[in-house]
Amino acid sequence: MTRAFDCLVIGGGPAGLTAAIYLGRFRRRVLVLDKGWSRAEWITKSHNLPGFPGGISGRRLLENLREQARRYGAVVESSVVDTLSSNDHGRFSAEMGARSVTAHAVILATGVVENNPPVAHVGDAVKKGLIRTCPICDGYESIGKHIAVLGDGEHAAGEALFLRTYTGRLTLLLMATETTALSAETHRSLSAAGIDVSHVVIDSVSLGENGVTILGVEDGRLHRFDAIYSAFGTTPQASLATALGARTDDAHRLYVDAHQETSVPGLFAAGDLVRGLNQISVADGEAAIAATAIHNRLPQVFA
Ligand SMILES: Cc1cc2nc3c(=O)[nH]c(=O)nc-3n(C[C@H](O)[C@H](O)[C@H](O)COP(=O)(O)OP(=O)(O)OC[C@H]3O[C@@H](n4cnc5c(N)ncnc54)[C@H](O)[C@@H]3O)c2cc1C
Repeated sequence: MTRAFDCLVIGGGPAGLTAAIYLGRFRRRVLVLDKGWSRAEWITKSHNLPGFPGGISGRRLLENLREQARRYGAVVESSVVDTLSSNDHGRFSAEMGARSVTAHAVILATGVVENNPPVAHVGDAVKKGLIRTCPICDGYESIGKHIAVLGDGEHAAGEALFLRTYTGRLTLLLMATETTALSAETHRSLSAAGIDVSHVVIDSVSLGENGVTILGVEDGRLHRFDAIYSAFGTTPQASLATALGARTDDAHRLYVDAHQETSVPGLFAAGDLVRGLNQISVADGEAAIAATAIHNRLPQVFA
């Protein structure tokens, strides 16, 4: 049987759960559907989240957010949304296997998926901090360490230059198989910053307990690093929206207006799948904006 909610939130990471907290407190009927493994689950301890001076693990943060959302009446369920459709009356319908739900508005908060390098046990290495993915998140924890950035082209070079704020012991390892050349200006910037540049065969990366070892670098020597930043980018999970005709930008992220509404009326988006900064505080802010815009648009319910 189909049930109508004021708002359906697809994705139960920081963006989706923050939206649910706001909508619950606006006394709206809200359902969060989440297939699990928010990117935040990978965070051993975040030190840049405002309000947590001692840091907080991603798992703990998600538990707190779920508890807070449920406290205000939001329903949070484990479920995978297969398709999303809209009808002529401006209602949305989400299908999860044989089951479907309808809602007046939808917030898509499905995030992005990491493009990990094909290195064995990469998940364990991320949890141990041997492989890192986000210099903005934990560059500070790399101060003075021996760090490599592994990737391809200008994106990887940009991450290496960003990390120069934190350490002078930096190597940019470009994938030997890729062909994207760095511009002369980038080469000059890397050289001026004292960043070594080498080419590497991905099969030669091995993960030790206390460091990452690279063997197949073109100079033939064995290199050890305290950690590697993987700079292969991410893939936005926007297909539920693009199937409805939602506009995306060049990086396949969803275009939204100042209220976080996509180009499909009534379909809002928040979090990593919208902007490139990929930060929890950004996801939270966007979720608050989207939830408030939806609340203001729905008919008011009097106490
Ligand atoms: C190793 C690591 C460390 C990080 N450290 C920090 C840090 O210190 N500080 C910081 O601010 N940020 C950090 N980040 C980034 C942070 O985790 C993300 O910015 C944040 O999780 C984005 O929240 P989100 O809600 O947009 O997406 P996510 O947290 O990725 O949540 C999206 C959710 O949507 C679900 N979903 C996707 N498709 C469907 C579907 N069809 N149906 C139902 N559910 C679906 C997913 O399963 C997932 O649970 C880190 C990320 C990583 C990987």
